[in-house]
Amino acid sequence: MKRAPGQDLFRERTAPLLIASVLALAGCGQTPAPRPSVVLVSIDTLRADHLGLYGYARPTSPFLDRIAAEGVVFERAFTSAAWTLIAHMTMLTGLYPEQHGVTEKTRQLSTGAPLLAERLRRAGYQTLGLYRSGWVHERFGFGRGFDVFRRHTTVEEAEEHLFEELARLDPERPFFVFLHLFDVHNDPSTKSPPSVFSAPPPFQDLFLPEAQKRLEGETYDSLKKRGLPKETVEAMVALYDEGIRHVDAALAGCFARLEAEGRLANTLVILTSDHGESLAQRDNWGHGGPWQEGIRVPLILRLPGNARAGERIHEVVHLVDVTPTVLDFAGLPPDPALPGCSLLRALPAERVVTGGNDPLQYLVRWPRKITRAGHYIAWTDLEADPLERDPRPASADEFEAVRAALKLDPSSFHAPLAAGAISPEDMAELEALGYGGEAGK
Ligand SMILES: [Zn+2]
Repeated sequence: MKRAPGQDLFRERTAPLLIASVLALAGCGQTPAPRPSVVLVSIDTLRADHLGLYGYARPTSPFLDRIAAEGVVFERAFTSAAWTLIAHMTMLTGLYPEQHGVTEKTRQLSTGAPLLAERLRRAGYQTLGLYRSGWVHERFGFGRGFDVFRRHTTVEEAEEHLFEELARLDPERPFFVFLHLFDVHNDPSTKSPPSVFSAPPPFQDLFLPEAQKRLEGETYDSLKKRGLPKETVEAMVALYDEGIRHVDAALAGCFARLEAEGRLANTLVILTSDHGESLAQRDNWGHGGPWQEGIRVPLILRLPGNARAGERIHEVVHLVDVTPTVLDFAGLPPDPALPGCSLLRALPAERVVTGGNDPLQYLVRWPRKITRAGHYIAWTDLEADPLERDPRPASADEFEAVRAALKLDPSSFHAPLAAGAISPEDMAELEALGYGGEAGK
């Protein structure tokens, strides 16, 4: 779909106007108005193309669809990797993996690379980080800048923590909430009976009766094989979708409470995910590869007063844009070392974005995506083949030619530190998630 002529101009004019109005409020009285607040929700493992707002047929996301209609939807949003650790580090620093360097579980973010929460706290924000422990953890550096960095297990517990912490805030000062939800992800540690994906009643079996029963005796690993029966794949997809509906319903309740408490009147809401999920694409389950099922993510901004409601943006965007967007919205100066763009401004029509962790890497210059997995290099026209089903051979020279257009600031590369020691409890939690011995996904 193409945008109407002049829409860029409309955006170019309206976004600075919105920011100018926030700043004007701060300048016209004796008491400066507080900076606006920010709520960033990361729904782990959420595929964009399984949401109604991106055209999915099943009613997985009535709440997110409503928020999308009230806000701005980004059609072509990319993450930096289909791995929670790398992707969240990008989301919360504004840096590509090769810049933040936290691409292994043994690494922690350099203290020279500020996290968004650190930038906001310095500007007077109260900062709350509510997360599902695992790859989002203090030992990788994620806790820096948060006044409160508190773990939960389920979306229901996260909601309890959120309102407990909000009640303790100073109402005169703005807040930043980072809310990381894990219920869509495979999580056998919280499922009863243990299963690959599942949601609690009334969402269980909502889309496919007895889907759970079809997978009795199967595990996440036992399903990682070629040639799964169609009935098995259907059941897995239905269970994944029911998990989305569960989180969507919980968020609807959560946001109704936030609205009722008046906490969203001057607040930017960002809803996104760290990565998607393979649901039998490439005969695999899970995530980790540089392919579209794991790399395309949903991205919605809802501005105060539902400004720009219903806009659909087709320029390529990336999780590196989250930090510059929040800085812009908060009226803070841009950081020229960051490779991303403010999503509140006109976006470049031609742009290269990237992600991955060696030996996997991808580059996108719309509509072409070029992917490298070791010696395998291939390109895909994402207009013609949005799910990257039929990649064509490409050369290392083609890959390097696109990569040369990235032009990353030399000062933006940070040598990571060693990750903090892992406690026995945290190791047990990772093992429960199925991540005990591997380098990670
Ligand atoms: Zn994740």
